[in-house]
Amino acid sequence: MRVNLLDFDLEGLVAWCERLGEKRFRAVQLYRWIHQKGASDFDQMSDLAKSLRAKLAALAEVKALPLLSEHVSDDGTVKWLFDVGQGNAVETVYIPEADRGTLCVSSQAGCAVGCRFCSTGHQGFSRNLSTAEIVAQLWFAEHRLRQPAAPGEGVPFTRAIDNVVMMGMGEPLQNYSALLPALRTMLDDHAYGLSRRRVTVSTSGVVPMIDRLGQDCPVALAVSLHAPDDALRNNLVPLNRKYPIEELMQACLRYLEVAPRDFITFEYCMLDGVNDHLQQAQALVELVRRHGVSCKFNLIPFNPFPASGLSCSQRPQVQSFAAVLLQAGIVTTVRRTRGDDIDAACGQLAGEVQDRTRASERFAQRRQTIPIVVAKELQ
Ligand code: SAH
Ligand code: SF4
Repeated sequence: MRVNLLDFDLEGLVAWCERLGEKRFRAVQLYRWIHQKGASDFDQMSDLAKSLRAKLAALAEVKALPLLSEHVSDDGTVKWLFDVGQGNAVETVYIPEADRGTLCVSSQAGCAVGCRFCSTGHQGFSRNLSTAEIVAQLWFAEHRLRQPAAPGEGVPFTRAIDNVVMMGMGEPLQNYSALLPALRTMLDDHAYGLSRRRVTVSTSGVVPMIDRLGQDCPVALAVSLHAPDDALRNNLVPLNRKYPIEELMQACLRYLEVAPRDFITFEYCMLDGVNDHLQQAQALVELVRRHGVSCKFNLIPFNPFPASGLSCSQRPQVQSFAAVLLQAGIVTTVRRTRGDDIDAACGQLAGEVQDRTRASERFAQRRQTIPIVVAKELQ
């Protein structure tokens, strides 16, 4: 089997090339052809010796993910569905904004965390993506969307993607060994050259891996909080039973010491009558104040799907909830829903993926045994 060169960060490619008897600068050239120029055919790589190109063609390939579909939303959001084999698919979403382009990348087919409000979680876990499969999403999107620059601009193209958010399918910190080289390629100046502040890992709170990320490759961090207390968070984000809020807050504080940004983004999916009571907003204020965590809140309107049995908070409730946080001096944004017409919004990804682990049955059982009543009791 040939080696997929998308699997390597620069140091990995250098080591691989050295085993072929090739010098470091050859690996740099190759890496630039692949990631900066989007080349997959070794014959295109005109500054590599013919003999090297022949060797590469025999041993290696630049293998993209097979594309199943591409949908473009009225608002310019693009959703791609990629085949990752054995009936599994993952999705990648491009979100254009006036001043930047963001790519939402998947890290796993399915997810083992099983959050109540997430359709990926309801599908169960299929498998980890490889580094190549994570990088292939960016490689494909950047080169598909990149525009030639206007004449006279002095650069050959304008970059399509300035931000990457690991907020597609899967829990990136449960696929750490594949994630790390992928992040390094995103950041490398010989590849995509993204700023550390513009690559965001979003996690449901895998505490030991937050520490590892801080040591190995600090990038912007988003933590999916969704509840101010353990009782509710245990129910919404089952991983909280292993790493409760107290430990999570301590991990955030440790991360802030090495983070490229001076705040953590807390994501909070707004669920009607579940976690959107104003007392819960106040409890969040107290939580982050008690721990002294410098943070921003990103309130995400819940994207409903039938099996969840949940609904999105009313718009005025989201605004009042945000107002409590804002009044306490916490920067708070309400995420605009993008790509609604193509099902590209958060938590709606890869609806077609098979339910291999009978997760929907387990969820149905859990709904019966642990009804969510916390917020209703408060009202
Ligand atoms: N596993 C990681 C990253 C992928 S999920 C994490 O949980 O952080 C990315 C974001 O989408 C998370 O904040 C998650 O809580 C949110 N999300 C999941 N399902 C959603 C839904 N149905 N509606 C709105 N947001 C959702
Ligand atoms: Fe997994 Fe994130 Fe979905 Fe939770 S919200 S099930 S961690 S993808």
